[in-house]
Amino acid sequence: MNISCDMVMDLISLYNDGVASDDTCRAIREHLKGCGECRRAYASYAETEKRKPIEQREHESDELSRKYTAVARHLRRHRLLSNAAVILLILLSVVIGGVGAVKLFMLNNKDTIH
Ligand SMILES: [Zn+2]
Repeated sequence: MNISCDMVMDLISLYNDGVASDDTCRAIREHLKGCGECRRAYASYAETEKRKPIEQREHESDELSRKYTAVARHLRRHRLLSNAAVILLILLSVVIGGVGAVKLFMLNNKDTIH
């Protein structure tokens, strides 16, 4: 997979933290082999990260974890709402179909029902 320099820069922190997927790591490694500019940028980034005091790295990790939890919660809520909307649509279809069937039945049998 061929990815752009911008994509490498977007993903480099995940790659450096060891949390990127295997496919992403492979694509980044492949890109770094052939792109000197990104290789230098990555080396500089990795060096800067290594020099950060452990407290700062832990703080950033906690913050990332909080952001991830918030995104996961948002996605879960979104999925619940989507499921509720689908169930509501199914119920509405059943009700509308039922009313239609009753009306059709009454129309077909209006001479016999009195
Ligand atoms: Zn590049």
